[in-house]
Amino acid sequence: MEWRWEEQFAEELDNKDILNIFRSQFYFPQHNGKNVLYFTGNSLGLQPKQAKEAIEQELEDWRKWGVEGHFKAKNPWYSYHEIFKEGLAYLTGSKPLEVTAMGTLTANLHFLLCSFYRPKGKRTKILYEHKAFPSDIYALQSQIKFHGLDPKQHLIAVMPDQNEIISTEQWLQNIENHKNELALVLPGGVNYYSGQRFEMDKIAAAAKKAGAIIGLDLAHAIGNVELQLHDWEIDFAVWCSYKYLNSGPGSVAGIFVHEKYAKDQELPRLAGWWGYPAKDRFKMESDFIPAEGADGWMLSNAPVFSMAAHKVSLDMFMEATTTKLFTKRDRLTGYLEFVIKMMASKYPKQLPLKIITPEDPSHRGSQLSINAGEKGRELYEYLTGNGVIADRREPDVIRMAPVPMYNSFKDIYEFGKILKNYAESKK
Ligand SMILES: *Cc1c(COP(=O)(O)O)cnc(C)c1O
Repeated sequence: MEWRWEEQFAEELDNKDILNIFRSQFYFPQHNGKNVLYFTGNSLGLQPKQAKEAIEQELEDWRKWGVEGHFKAKNPWYSYHEIFKEGLAYLTGSKPLEVTAMGTLTANLHFLLCSFYRPKGKRTKILYEHKAFPSDIYALQSQIKFHGLDPKQHLIAVMPDQNEIISTEQWLQNIENHKNELALVLPGGVNYYSGQRFEMDKIAAAAKKAGAIIGLDLAHAIGNVELQLHDWEIDFAVWCSYKYLNSGPGSVAGIFVHEKYAKDQELPRLAGWWGYPAKDRFKMESDFIPAEGADGWMLSNAPVFSMAAHKVSLDMFMEATTTKLFTKRDRLTGYLEFVIKMMASKYPKQLPLKIITPEDPSHRGSQLSINAGEKGRELYEYLTGNGVIADRREPDVIRMAPVPMYNSFKDIYEFGKILKNYAESKK
């Protein structure tokens, strides 16, 4: 693609974009009476306009039915989680049996670690990525301690090169080096800091060959990159729904457990009544039997208000299709990359910007992480003051994710104008 930083060029791309109908289905925060340039869909996706109506439906059914809404609501609450199986299976490359919507991300990670991190004999160690999201590190450390072990000895980080990137070779080498001691390998699908997408299939294959369990945190991957969890033979995975999935702050999260465990009643787990087979749940038996598949890890009844928004969002993903979304993703992110590099070469002193996210689209998703050196804070504040919503991570990285569901090429053109104004003002 021959990119050009011109208003008309960006507008033409938007006119030809088959997904541009979705933009008008979201609310954008306002800055001086105009839509902000919103580049933080990787942190909190925007609100779909239909979310309100969907949540009001549940309020109405609650008002109208009280407890009977469990069976008489338009979307009966008793089986509410079942409506997500199709969409979640679609987005994760799984079978419906393998996925369910439940709980919250870090809590779900703990639940699945209880089943899948079972240190035994020499196999006690967990391999994860350096600069994993802090909540994941805390979860892993505390799980190791929970088993009476010392995280300093049992938690091993795969280290990046000096550009924050962790090569697949690094992963494979670490797996090889520790192959007899690994209980679990747990990469994020896409690293939240660098925006790097790991080669999950290759890491999974190596982990399995070494005899370790492979788990994934897909917080930055679901709705953002291609996933084939079933075929990659991932043992378990977790994600949240408020980032790329636009389901609202703290909204219901989700889990994947591979089909091969679907009927395994021996696997230890932390159980709750919603994990009991639905047809017999209200017999209120005192001995727990897990439901088949991922549902056997559910604990509590469905948080229907957040699920209502989640449903709206998953329907939009199925309508838009991942094929179209991911094609547009690479173009949008490619255009942003072009604009940043062009401005950085035009104004090297004012804009000493260096993109740390890999250039190869198959090694990233929507996000670009930009090292802005010592200018980071100043530039970030200028952007914020001029209606650009990006985010800054210590010490000096600005993260931006143009997302294909609602960002436009014009957004990126406009962002270029703001970068240019900043640079000119510092001359
Ligand atoms: C966003 C994110 C979290 C946040 O966890 P919550 O339990 O939803 O607050 C955890 N891990 C990763 C990798 C994330 O990107």
